[in-house]
Amino acid sequence: AHPVFEDIGTSIFEVMSRLATECKAINLGQGFPEALEPQEMIEAARQALADGPHQYPSMMGLPTLRQAVAENARRFFGLEIDWEQEVLITSGATEALADSLFALLQQGDEVIIIEPAYDSYAPIIRRAGALPVTVRLRPPHWHLPFDAMRDVISNKTRAIVLNNPMNPTGKVFTLEELRFIADLMLEHDLIAIADEVYDHLVFDGMCHISLLSLPEIRDRVVRIGSAGKSFSLTGWKVGYVTADKRLLAPIMRAHQYVNFSTPPALQAAVAAGLRFPDSYFEGLRNNLQARRDLLLDGLRNAGLKVANVAATYFALADIGDNPFEEDDFAFSQRMTREAGVATIPMSFFYENRDVISHVRFCFAKQADTLEEAVARIRNWT
Ligand code: PMP
Ligand code: GLN
Repeated sequence: AHPVFEDIGTSIFEVMSRLATECKAINLGQGFPEALEPQEMIEAARQALADGPHQYPSMMGLPTLRQAVAENARRFFGLEIDWEQEVLITSGATEALADSLFALLQQGDEVIIIEPAYDSYAPIIRRAGALPVTVRLRPPHWHLPFDAMRDVISNKTRAIVLNNPMNPTGKVFTLEELRFIADLMLEHDLIAIADEVYDHLVFDGMCHISLLSLPEIRDRVVRIGSAGKSFSLTGWKVGYVTADKRLLAPIMRAHQYVNFSTPPALQAAVAAGLRFPDSYFEGLRNNLQARRDLLLDGLRNAGLKVANVAATYFALADIGDNPFEEDDFAFSQRMTREAGVATIPMSFFYENRDVISHVRFCFAKQADTLEEAVARIRNWT
């Protein structure tokens, strides 16, 4: 049987958001922030909408935005990028991922994905005619298992998808882990799709190292970013792909038939955002870090087992020993209905759905929202 999208259920993010709406629950499921949108960017978009243009922008994206992507990556992650040849604007990281996987995979290729893995990777890999091969990270440290990585490589392995910082674990990969991946890529002639949408959301003074910054694999890495995360504007769906021109050329050809271009007013506003001073990005990190601490403390006081997280919007609670002996999905649904707080069951980040012990909370919300959510959970447990 060949794979068809009919085999795939509705994304868990939509499923839980619908249930949250239906139950009037606080939605700590799907990852979207609250009250962090930079007003300057909204004003810039309003102005651009008033002034136009309103027709198709360049397929590659507005030059000002492509330049801003390159400048921002240089300023924060030390990357040297030729904006004319190496940057493509897409409608969100989701499109960037699909374009990249459709462009770079061939029938029968194998692609390593690291579980727990974001839900769009495997379906697109399959639809590209390739096979996702999984390697699992394990709590509490979520270290990359070097032996397991070596073991899954075959002569069909073509690519690794690396989500760093990682949703849903909040893990930031170490330089040692990235170097290991780079060595593996060189030894086996692989490419990498580096989903780095949370690159600016790293806490406690930790530092994000882009896979693209490792010089020996500079021409083998596709780096993907998203304005949704860096500017708390998830509904805008502005993403960017950065790669050596030989990798970017086929991705651009996929992009021309998947989507072609992205609304110009939003591109202009994102260009302004990427040029914000360092203080904006620092403020965002500090704000999210405080929200993280608030939620972690609150959930622990409510009796949940939650681990620390170094990055992203997310914290995981271990509900493996809940008295109802429920799996994560049943637990999430019941908590949404009874406590009025929605989460994401982590099993949906596994191909086999067999890890049923954790639920994911999004902490990127205002203090009031987090406090109310915690109070509801405390009354419920
Ligand atoms: N990759 C990861 C790891 C994500 O968490 C998300 C979503 N939020 C995306 C990609 C998709 O990003 P976008 O909303 O820009 O399409
Ligand atoms: N990336 C977001 C999350 O992990 C959801 C994106 C979506 O809803 N498709 O929650």
